[in-house]
Amino acid sequence: MLTSQTTEHRCPCGSRKPFAFCCEPYIEGQKLAPTAEQLMRSRYTAFALGAIDYLIDTTAPEKRDAIDRAIIAEQIQFTTWTGLTILNKEAGHKDDSQGMVEFEASFETEEDQCVLHECSNFYAKDGKWFYLDGNVEVRSIA
Ligand SMILES: [Zn+2]
Repeated sequence: MLTSQTTEHRCPCGSRKPFAFCCEPYIEGQKLAPTAEQLMRSRYTAFALGAIDYLIDTTAPEKRDAIDRAIIAEQIQFTTWTGLTILNKEAGHKDDSQGMVEFEASFETEEDQCVLHECSNFYAKDGKWFYLDGNVEVRSIA
């Protein structure tokens, strides 16, 4: 599904890099995201493209029970992600064991245009970053 994207196609995460050289190798499982920010970007891209398996796989195992695949699928179906801005980050580098990324992601639904603001917490285990939790605020900008 995702491989139909061409290398010319810019990554949805807003990095300005081609998808094939940005989030695609992480979402396709060819590489592990090296930093908390890159994991966060690739999860945004996975939301934008509907890569539910990747979203679940990169959620901290102890949080997966709370994930409802059907709800994520529905969110993806009714939401168009239109932009990502990284506002702030703490730690989350290659050799760190945890990190925080603050970002804004804009999206549209049938009825509304919104901005989601989140401070996300991540941790790394055996070289793999996981999304733990976050403080989320959504505001309408329509
Ligand atoms: Zn990307």
